[in-house]
Amino acid sequence: MGSPLSPVISNVVMEKLEQECRLQLEEKGIHLKLYRRYVDDCMCIARREHIQTIVDTFNSFHDRLQFTVEMEVGGKIKFLDMMLERADDQINTSWLPKHSNGRYLDYTSKSPFQHKQNTAIALIDRAIKLTCGAKREETLKQATQILERNNYPSWFIQKLKRLRIHKHYNTLEADNRTTLPQKYVSAPYVPGLSEKLRKVLRKNDVTLASRPQNKIKNQIFSKLKDPIPPGKQKNVVYCIPCGADEKVYIGQTKRMLEVRVAEHKNDCRGRNPKSGLAVHKMEEGHIFNFDQVKILDRIQDQATRNIAEVFHIKKRGEDLTVNLQRECGNFNSAYNGLLAQLRRQP
Ligand SMILES: [Zn+2]
Repeated sequence: MGSPLSPVISNVVMEKLEQECRLQLEEKGIHLKLYRRYVDDCMCIARREHIQTIVDTFNSFHDRLQFTVEMEVGGKIKFLDMMLERADDQINTSWLPKHSNGRYLDYTSKSPFQHKQNTAIALIDRAIKLTCGAKREETLKQATQILERNNYPSWFIQKLKRLRIHKHYNTLEADNRTTLPQKYVSAPYVPGLSEKLRKVLRKNDVTLASRPQNKIKNQIFSKLKDPIPPGKQKNVVYCIPCGADEKVYIGQTKRMLEVRVAEHKNDCRGRNPKSGLAVHKMEEGHIFNFDQVKILDRIQDQATRNIAEVFHIKKRGEDLTVNLQRECGNFNSAYNGLLAQLRRQP
């Protein structure tokens, strides 16, 4: 799992597997009274003496797909996050919270209110939808306890419970509602500001989705990946310093930086008059420091990268770059003040 394609592919494989295996079982005279599956978790009702044959058949499909089997105990069996219980002529279900003592999004945390409400609704909805009528009161009580342990206030839980029960049992709103295509924008969550912004945007039929900023993932795991060496990076704006004065060459490439740098070295050797680097070398006799190439920006989009290249040339000042005039591009003079200001910064 992990790749977005995994669930789709696993479903395709499982569909083929169950089709073939059930056909084989039918040939052996074994009939599954009920068969249900969620991704790779299967549940079936069969005669006790047939269970081993069923497992063996499923396991014969492919060496790397091996199933284990769990049988009911005292008329009960767990399936996904439900407990299934045999009653006279039916199966009663009740929700089994995965983390009954675990932590959910805490009500006192600095997260958008919407996220807290959604956490509570998700729990309450599972307690309602996965449980048969007789046990619903019990599972709703469990959901309440979990929310209380995560500091959700009673009035809030009671209100949501009333609303959700009403929604599931007394109305058909969900089915009849016509949904217009929604516009969303996402922005970092700033307590106080995001709530006001949401109201303003709603008037224009835009929904604001708040992103929490401080994630444990960002704090701890951000550096897990080895950094890519500069020469192997792509889509970059870079500068190559001259070894004899303050001047630099600024360029951009979508290919690997080291490939582009090798081309520059070739231009210098071949005295290519179309290359600013080669012209500077020919005119001044200076050698460039190709081992001190610096990445100034990493930008995927070609057009934006072109603008960034010109921006860096202008920021540096055209007299301090060896780029040819045609590479310096046209920047509206409206930006001159801003560029001058940026030039003064380190
Ligand atoms: Zn120079």
